[in-house]
Amino acid sequence: MNILILGGGGREHALAWAVKQNPKCDRLIVAPGNAGIAEIAECARIDILNGGLIATFAEENAIDLVIIGPEAPLAAGIADRLEDAGLAVFGPSAAASMLESSKSFTKEICDAAGAPTAAYARFTEAEPARAHVRAKGAPIVIKADGLAAGKGVVVAMDEAEALAAIDDMFSGTFGEAGAEVVIEEFMQGEEASFFVLCDGETLLPIGTAQDHKRVGEGDTGLNTGGMGAYSPAPVLTDEIAKKAMERIIAPTMRVMAERGTPYRGVLYAGLMIEDGEPRLVEYNVRFGDPECQVLMMRLGAQALDLMLATAEGRLSEMKVNWAEDHAITVVMAAKGYPGAYEKGSVIEGLEALPEDSRHMVFHAGTAEKDGKLIASGGRVLNVTARGDSLREARDAAYEMVEAIDWPGGFCRSDIGWRALG
Ligand code: ATP
Repeated sequence: MNILILGGGGREHALAWAVKQNPKCDRLIVAPGNAGIAEIAECARIDILNGGLIATFAEENAIDLVIIGPEAPLAAGIADRLEDAGLAVFGPSAAASMLESSKSFTKEICDAAGAPTAAYARFTEAEPARAHVRAKGAPIVIKADGLAAGKGVVVAMDEAEALAAIDDMFSGTFGEAGAEVVIEEFMQGEEASFFVLCDGETLLPIGTAQDHKRVGEGDTGLNTGGMGAYSPAPVLTDEIAKKAMERIIAPTMRVMAERGTPYRGVLYAGLMIEDGEPRLVEYNVRFGDPECQVLMMRLGAQALDLMLATAEGRLSEMKVNWAEDHAITVVMAAKGYPGAYEKGSVIEGLEALPEDSRHMVFHAGTAEKDGKLIASGGRVLNVTARGDSLREARDAAYEMVEAIDWPGGFCRSDIGWRALG
């Protein structure tokens, strides 16, 4: 079969790598792709926010399945447009994508589903929002309603910070995304990510992970897109996963179906776990980046069968064959990230690294120039390894990092610290 993947980051390289291993895959095209993806698939320079263009492209190339990586095309209704054109699509409709694109919508659905999450209030004006903060006190969490690339959330440790965040959000910093502000109770606990496939009816968990959002060692410094991840997440035990399925995810999916907007795709639940009890922090309607890299490393070729079954409503026929092992990914970023960084520095040493079912360097912001691999973004390489233990996986990944000759890059040296103790 012919497969089209939309996106061009480390997540999409990992998806392409897993799909490519499946003998069902005849032709693989990734739009727009990147330099690493170009080594295993055809890359097409098409606008992934233009549904008409993608539908025509898919038809011309006899595409059997479209896998949508990032949230922007999902929120823009690209899955709807492609399904209307008769294509099998992995990724939810725009209406179902509101579980990520609107925080107040998600809160409403949680209320209807009885799903445990932080208590909240919604505001469209600053003064009542300020009064709410004064009444509740800190710590408290202030969120712009819409998509803000992870920057629309302030976990305020004191009242002044909370009030400043409210002013900032209503001042138009986030455009439409900040027209409504959600103020939440601060939840204590440890965060973990839970990934579940849903075809509108059947649910199938496909793994757990933990990421590292901050740029600095020991989870300090500025927020980033993610500096590393590992799977499984030991804090998300089978018992807690069962509670999360029964109390949060299954009721959410039921409510979505009842409202006439069934969810099809991967649901990524960010959970806060305290004293063995999970509560929902947020939903994302796609794989996380870099969590996808560790999930794909562990799932391998079956990822394609699972995504196809999700798109075709056949998940009840599927089960996941889990390798009892661990995977870790260390993100290498351009020096300066997440602040200003330089593009164009040369990366060497990748050719000497192993590339097999246990070792992969997934590319995020890379490009090729004059026959050389160069950095073209903030997060650049995802050095990924598997092992029988997390420690073994971690050691293997850092051994690969050592062999990469990139003076313009850096990484955190403590990925996995929480689980490794
Ligand atoms: P991203 O997609 O980058 O994770 P986002 O913009 O969708 O971020 P959230 O996930 O809702 O925002 O919040 C970002 C982070 O803020 C969470 O991962 C969590 O660490 C923290 N956070 C959010 N809500 C709460 C809460 N109610 N209590 C404590 N911490 C919270």
